Amino acid sequence: MRCFYDFHIHSCLSPCADMDMTPHSIAGMSYINGLNAIAVADHNTARNIRAVTKAAEEYGICVVPAIEAESAENIHLLCLFPTIETAEEMGKFLESHLPPIKNRPDIFGEQWIMNEVDEKTGEIDVLLINATDLPIEEIKAKAELLGGVCIAAHIDREKNGIVATLGCVPDYLEFSTLELSRHATDYEKDGKYKYISDSDAHILTDISEKVNFLDVGEITPAEIIKNLK
Ligand SMILES: [Zn+2]
Ligand SMILES: [Zn+2]
Repeated sequence: MRCFYDFHIHSCLSPCADMDMTPHSIAGMSYINGLNAIAVADHNTARNIRAVTKAAEEYGICVVPAIEAESAENIHLLCLFPTIETAEEMGKFLESHLPPIKNRPDIFGEQWIMNEVDEKTGEIDVLLINATDLPIEEIKAKAELLGGVCIAAHIDREKNGIVATLGCVPDYLEFSTLELSRHATDYEKDGKYKYISDSDAHILTDISEKVNFLDVGEITPAEIIKNLK
């Protein structure tokens, strides 16, 4: 079954994302774009996934629970999980490893927790766009222990990309899948890896069109993760 996807979208819980990135608006835009599966991957937290999943249900879009973790090396890791509960457990783990620095919404932006009808239900005080004190291997191991997959995010990008930071994708980390940004058009792929391409959308109009796809048995988080492992 062909699954058109965008597995890297930020909600208004990420301070750097637009406040229009609400659960219902993300689901609606993904539907208009013809996507079958999406993932909202906020920085180091999972607290808007439940709302996005409920909002997407009415559009028939599968939501893969996800988080964009930042390692101690300042590298971004896209972690996808089979269930909301496992993503939330990872989110709590990552939040507890952030430095105790408060968000300054006037500088960094708001960090709003929403419900599925786009009402604000809370906010996170600690600044989410910091590096955790966890090395890459620890984040990857924890994600895998929870049944998820850990993907080196936007590897073509200088900021927070693994290649620009470490000079390569080290073999010992044993990544199965790497993510390319929407700006990587003729990236030279390494046959060792699977690749996905995501928008990393921080505004609604950046959410992917019906371009990138996976062929999967069925469009569920578990099947998609199995495909990327
Ligand atoms: Zn990133
Ligand atoms: Zn991102």
